[in-house]
Amino acid sequence: MTAPVTPVDKPRPSPLATAHAQLAGAVEILGYSSGLHEMLATSRREINVAIPLRRDDGSTELLRGYRIQHNISRGPGKGGLRYAPNVDPDEVRALAMLMTWKCAVVDLPYGGAKGGVTIDPRNYSKLELERVTRRYTSEIMPMIGPERDIMAPDIGTDEQTMAWVMDTYSVNKGYTIPAVTTGKPLSVGGSLGRATATSRGVVHAMKAALADAGVGLNEVRVAIQGFGKVGSHATRFLAEAGSTVLAVSDQYGGVYDANGLDVSSLLAHVKQTGSVVGFADSDPIDNTALLALDVDVLIPAAVEGVLDEETAATVKARWVIEAANGPTTSAGDQVLADRGIIVVPDILANAGGVVVSYFEWVQANQAYWWTEHEIEERLEQRMLQAYATVAQAARADGHTLRDAALTIGVRRVAEAHQIRGLYP
Ligand code: NAD
Repeated sequence: MTAPVTPVDKPRPSPLATAHAQLAGAVEILGYSSGLHEMLATSRREINVAIPLRRDDGSTELLRGYRIQHNISRGPGKGGLRYAPNVDPDEVRALAMLMTWKCAVVDLPYGGAKGGVTIDPRNYSKLELERVTRRYTSEIMPMIGPERDIMAPDIGTDEQTMAWVMDTYSVNKGYTIPAVTTGKPLSVGGSLGRATATSRGVVHAMKAALADAGVGLNEVRVAIQGFGKVGSHATRFLAEAGSTVLAVSDQYGGVYDANGLDVSSLLAHVKQTGSVVGFADSDPIDNTALLALDVDVLIPAAVEGVLDEETAATVKARWVIEAANGPTTSAGDQVLADRGIIVVPDILANAGGVVVSYFEWVQANQAYWWTEHEIEERLEQRMLQAYATVAQAARADGHTLRDAALTIGVRRVAEAHQIRGLYP
């Protein structure tokens, strides 16, 4: 299927500019010096690799890849690996920085990192993607490892990609090292509950935010942008919790039903066709119109920068739950705040994935696996604890949830820097 150019594909502000503006806001609240600000704004280590690929037809091409550790003061770098055509160093820097604050907000012993390869995976065979992944892993070998930097899936990568990374790393080291990646298949040391963890966490955060207003999950109408690993499971969990899902979309377009979509039939349709588009008993809706729907909750679960000054002004939802990383620009965030729309920020709302990644890493390091019940229970407890801490700080200081979450995350990282001291 060819992706039509939808309005959501218009040029978006740089994610790095958004990340820097968010950090600057937190630094101002915290009253930090310009020296500390500069340190917090700068990646600790960056690697930029060339990935020569032999295509199935015998031709060769050169791809570019990156791994960036934004901060490793609280522990090893942690962050996803993205395969997308628009991946560039600034996007990876921004996403690595977000991971630093996210791990700190949910109080994991990790820093923040991110990786990416500039590639449209839809145009490559599985064997080609395996070769890309293995070569990329070999090139960044010195930087990664269970004590250094641990990878996970992101846009365009999945548990198979993580199995290839883990295998390449292990073969080169000479023994099996499952803890170098998370989000792996269960058969090679993955964790129960990891595949759905981000989406479950989104629903826990949303439930807590609604509860602050005395509203239940079963009372709300929801629109979800992005129907990949995060958006599709979130849609399913919300339908199970009694929410009415009015619209969903993917990069090909969206579908809408004023009475609520039949989510189990929709999931079957996507399994069969690869897209939500064309789902029976629904009307088509484009990605920009979806953001402006008359719903209670809007969940961006696709790409960065979709809620900018213009689109944020059209949002009718009372809550925005950021399942995607960086879906709201700084200008968009200001518009939402001015309009009294409650935003549960990405570094809190989508932290369920990294929380269960942490559980997977702990299990792999101990070679002892937990039950699904233990994982789900601990995930919920972590998410609710993080939400309560952020919401309480927001209330106490009169801040938005984003400012409160960023301030908590940035402060925890800065404290680690300060207590460790400056070497030499
Ligand atoms: P995915 O590749 O599985 O799915 C992405 C979805 O977004 C697909 O449905 C795709 O069609 C859609 N999409 C892509 N471009 C679009 C566009 N321009 N307009 C509308 N829809 C578009 O990726 P994912 O893992 O579900 O990640 C989605 C978001 O969640 C990303 O921002 C990612 O960084 C973030 N996130 C993912 C995880 C995780 O565990 N996978 C954890 C935390 C945050």
